[in-house]
Amino acid sequence: MSNIRAIRGMSDILPDETPTWQYVEAVVRELVASYGYAEIRLPIVEQTDLFKRSIGEVTDIVEKEMYTFNDRNDDSLTLRPEGTAGCVRAAIQNGLLTTPRRLWYAGPMFRYERPQKGRQRQFHQVGVEAFGVSTPDMDAEMILLSARLWQQLGVADGVQLQLNSIGSLSARAAYRQALVEYLQQRREELDEDSQRRLDSNPLRILDSKNPQTQALLDEAPVLSAYLDQESRDDFARVRELLDAAGVAYVENPRLVRGLDYYNKTVFEWVTDRLGAQGTVCAGGRYDGLVEQLGGKSVPAIGFAMGIERLVLLLQASAQEPKPEPTADLYIVSAGEGAQREALAVCEQLRDAFPGLRIVQHTGGGSFKSQFKKADKSGARLALVWGDDEVASGTVTLKALRDESGKQAGQQTVALEQLQQTLRALLADWDIARGSS
Ligand code: ATP
Ligand code: MG
Repeated sequence: MSNIRAIRGMSDILPDETPTWQYVEAVVRELVASYGYAEIRLPIVEQTDLFKRSIGEVTDIVEKEMYTFNDRNDDSLTLRPEGTAGCVRAAIQNGLLTTPRRLWYAGPMFRYERPQKGRQRQFHQVGVEAFGVSTPDMDAEMILLSARLWQQLGVADGVQLQLNSIGSLSARAAYRQALVEYLQQRREELDEDSQRRLDSNPLRILDSKNPQTQALLDEAPVLSAYLDQESRDDFARVRELLDAAGVAYVENPRLVRGLDYYNKTVFEWVTDRLGAQGTVCAGGRYDGLVEQLGGKSVPAIGFAMGIERLVLLLQASAQEPKPEPTADLYIVSAGEGAQREALAVCEQLRDAFPGLRIVQHTGGGSFKSQFKKADKSGARLALVWGDDEVASGTVTLKALRDESGKQAGQQTVALEQLQQTLRALLADWDIARGSS
């Protein structure tokens, strides 16, 4: 019988990689808290209508990327393809829209896409949303927060901020009409996808990766010419605030974003270090969405970033955290009495040195085979119990690494002296863990 394998596009994140994930998550967690954002945890499954009504029926996500199924009660449910819709739903349902409200979340998202590097069917996002503030200072806060993240992760020199304003709904409607008129006359020259979008969602054509279509767009009307005055003013203010804060950006008049709910400021952070999947973070204003989903009229802005792409970016930029050994101390013991004693003493050590990685050899075996495992664990020091040690109330410390050997060598210490000896060694070794 063939082995069962993971679903295409849904990856295991293996122990080699989890330290980088944990590092990114820890940096994000601390950063958003430092800006006053509170975590919200949301269901992975929602009613299908939530996504249809928010993301939009004629978007890539709703048209062809959603994992939708009927449950046993015949209700149509969908694995969330993104986080904003669920966050807005929860904010309305739980009365969180007293303002301002700053929220963030993290977790898996699901889209039926063609898997490739940086593009998966189950992927992970961190999302940040702020409700209740319509002024551009909030737009600037969002962007500054994201900019600070690149600084902290050490990848600021590898990302570029792209900025645009897509204006009000009515400004977009006017522009849409002008764009359609222009492109209708050149319909035959458009790629197939864009021809289809011309009828359903023409603004998405601006997003096309097809060079011939992009060339056609060079002469097309530009959205900025159709912007309403308020959007213009707000956009100017956002840029002014970013200038003042020293955050560089490029204006990208073709940046429209793939979801329907955006208005005014939209932005993306892109990198050229990941090939085709270059957008690591994307967001914008969505002032109409709360009302559209049945809440009061509450302005909002948010962004989401893809953790897989962040992890890849860290790897590509040689900014991964240093790998750490799984053990600092490895416990070797032979004989039932020795094992009993080792187990008890180690629990005392865990009390005395919180955070120190103490790995107990399990499963028995000769000293020789235990030392092999000890060496492999990356531990600096082995604590060894045999019959002699048990009889004399001692334990033998044996250095496993050259750099530790000078200080530790091999010595037998009385159990009462063990904690003191360890404390001195740890200080010398500069292991932050367990020093408290
Ligand atoms: P793309 O143009 O790459 O398909 P998108 O516009 O569909 O991106 P958003 O819905 O804005 O992406 O999601 C925000 C971020 O989430 C993206 O910038 C990206 O970093 C990440 N992301 C989106 N889809 C995927 C995916 N299938 N696999 C991995 N990361 C993803
Ligand atoms: Mg996409």
